[in-house]
Amino acid sequence: MPALDNVAKAELALLRQKSLLRTLKGSQREEGVVVRRGKRDFISFSCNDYFGLSHHPHVIAAAQEALVQYGAGAGASRLVTGNHPLYDALEKKLAAVKGTEAALVFGSGYLANLGVIPALAGKNDLILADRLIHACMIDGAKLSGAVFMRFAHNNLDHCRLLLEEHRGEFERCLILTETVFSMDGDLAPIADLAKLAKKHDAWLLTDDAHGLGLIPPGGIHADIQMGTLSKGAGAYGGYVCASRPVIDFLVNSARSLVFSTALPPSVIAAATESLAIMRKDKKLTQKPLQHARTFTRLLGKKKAESAIVPVMLGEPERALEASARLEEEGFLVAAIRPPTVPQGTARLRFAFSALHEAEHIGRVASLLKKFGYA
Ligand SMILES: *Cc1c(COP(=O)(O)O)cnc(C)c1O
Repeated sequence: MPALDNVAKAELALLRQKSLLRTLKGSQREEGVVVRRGKRDFISFSCNDYFGLSHHPHVIAAAQEALVQYGAGAGASRLVTGNHPLYDALEKKLAAVKGTEAALVFGSGYLANLGVIPALAGKNDLILADRLIHACMIDGAKLSGAVFMRFAHNNLDHCRLLLEEHRGEFERCLILTETVFSMDGDLAPIADLAKLAKKHDAWLLTDDAHGLGLIPPGGIHADIQMGTLSKGAGAYGGYVCASRPVIDFLVNSARSLVFSTALPPSVIAAATESLAIMRKDKKLTQKPLQHARTFTRLLGKKKAESAIVPVMLGEPERALEASARLEEEGFLVAAIRPPTVPQGTARLRFAFSALHEAEHIGRVASLLKKFGYA
């Protein structure tokens, strides 16, 4: 057997050759949308902190207060002694935002999907998922042992066809999608999917990682609304909103909740304060979408539906080159490559923040045109 180091080196060489190698770069996030790398400051279009709440003085103050009052760590899982008093306020707020009876906070969005999906579906069951769902839902589905099928992106007819053909062979059926697609920025037809799920005796789980605060939940929503506190809320953690019995069941069955330590109290306090700010400051929460629409208008692209706008470039080399050229000009825009997105759809992914200025958007749009990327 070859030595472990040699295997690692060979794998890395292969990734480098395909322009798919990834490395960690020290990135210090500063005021507004500025990120410092090395000695240079950049304007970032690659942060998911859509409202700048991670640096909001009230959010920081709430975290500091909790840190002093409750300590740095939670000390145990939520079912043991980690369920500090701040969880209750956060979960009440989340349930109110989503219009559900109850909510449950997990260690992260990733952990929420990894815990919830296997709790709801197992080896006699069927999971149907949109082709473009996030890796952590795919991992949750794999872990569940259920039969896993994909429908074409946002294609209700394909989803219906799969239900008509296969629903009868399984006990339970779970449908997975995102409210706002993380790499494409388009929205799923949630109300129609919810009706379809109901008609075929299936449950719908939606991942709202990129919608919280930006895209209000519609009247008809999914049975299980999952999301994260790590993006728009500027803190950390994941959550699920659903009926009281479903939440109580998940407390007993989601292994990533049962067997993982509770979040630090300061993180919960920060997220709770962020939700309060989002609820009050509508001017702030409307801005990312307005900025995204300015950008799509400047480039003559289809009107943005969310704060995320991809600029499609095809092969990974081209996306890396575009990202590097913008970086030379002082902008950080992540090149997104397979396996994050399907083969042949490497892209620049722009995430707009309330804290971007019109001048940032105008400048980056004209560079994209000048370089021939848009
Ligand atoms: C970021 C993301 C997650 C994971 O959330 P974390 O809190 O960062 O673990 C889950 N789903 C989608 C769609 C995401 O974009």
